[in-house]
Amino acid sequence: MKKFVKGLLAAVLAAGMLSQNVFAFTNDEWLSISTFEDRKTYNVDRGEVSKYLVGLYENFGGLQVEITQNDFHDITNETHPYAMQAYYLGIVKAYGLGEFAPQAAMTYDEFSCDIYRIVTKFYPEIAAEYAEKEEKQAAKEFVVSRGLIPAGKAAGKGKVTLGDAAEILDRTRSAAPAFEVKYNTSGLDINIPEGPKAYLTFDDNCSNLTPLILDTLRDYDVKATFFVAGFGDENVIRRMADEGHTVAVHTYTHDYSQIYRSSEAFWADIKIESDYLTGILGYTPTLLRFPGGSNNTVSRRYGGAGLMSRLRSECADHGYIYFDWNNDSGDANGKKYSPSEIAGNVLYSTKGKETVVILMHQTAPKVSTYNALPQIIKGLRDQGYTLLPLTEATPPVQFN
Ligand SMILES: [Zn+2]
Repeated sequence: MKKFVKGLLAAVLAAGMLSQNVFAFTNDEWLSISTFEDRKTYNVDRGEVSKYLVGLYENFGGLQVEITQNDFHDITNETHPYAMQAYYLGIVKAYGLGEFAPQAAMTYDEFSCDIYRIVTKFYPEIAAEYAEKEEKQAAKEFVVSRGLIPAGKAAGKGKVTLGDAAEILDRTRSAAPAFEVKYNTSGLDINIPEGPKAYLTFDDNCSNLTPLILDTLRDYDVKATFFVAGFGDENVIRRMADEGHTVAVHTYTHDYSQIYRSSEAFWADIKIESDYLTGILGYTPTLLRFPGGSNNTVSRRYGGAGLMSRLRSECADHGYIYFDWNNDSGDANGKKYSPSEIAGNVLYSTKGKETVVILMHQTAPKVSTYNALPQIIKGLRDQGYTLLPLTEATPPVQFN
């Protein structure tokens, strides 16, 4: 019941905040940003954001924070009246009095941690969920999995703008009390190894080869990415996720004449696949691969010349990052290759690239692909590659 009231309070505040934030921020005597455009480029400092972090703390706690005595010699009540409250509440960490540096620009990694500290103070189940993890990693996984801050930003040193800070705080309020998981972050690692990386990707419908592919990946301790088409064996799809692979969306029908008729037709088809996968996984996949790639010309026959560029630009609005490939195993080009030929196609065209995204298929006829996997995995490792699953944090490989 307590949770429900809190949630209700949060929802009411969130509804109000969305429209009031502009007003609240612009009306502030110590932070006057005159236009909406300026909010998007103005980098807030830690002291300025403290006020809003304390506000979030008050919302979640259903309480009003007492005015704190100012023990800091480098913070004046005129410029940063909430900075010391944020410190004494444990929202921001300082190395010692006088070293808080409220004038320093707020960075995403710090902001992620601040939000995480507030949430875990009032939502013990979130604290329990991440109890085993080091705070910085926990904070990143929390803000990314709940869709509060994108993976590419969350643990970085990028500077937070005023507009972004307001949006992130609004999203955090709206997410309470359920803090529903929106993105799979199992593949996320803030300690991604240095050096060249290779990504094995398997497209199209699951088949009797898929469990065998999963066995090989497990035997060689490799995490890969499956761009799934159609409906398959639910247990196999669940197994992909359980074993640490990324499950991504390819299409439902894979029928060019259907999906590339129009933008509406394409996204309707993707939604069928996405709903299906969400039902199995419990979260919505965020990576997508266009059948034929993002620059295919076949689509012109059905949806005209501008369709692919339109679909590419609509991706983010639909919640997807799209991935093409820069290395083709050749297993779909109509030629019958032996396993060593498939492996050769992959290994001779890495050309020292820092990032290699390899196109392969998991449908029933691709026996050579399956049999080539040990050679491909060993060969890539010999070339110095670390094999990883694609995640939202991976710099996208795109034709355009
Ligand atoms: Zn395909």
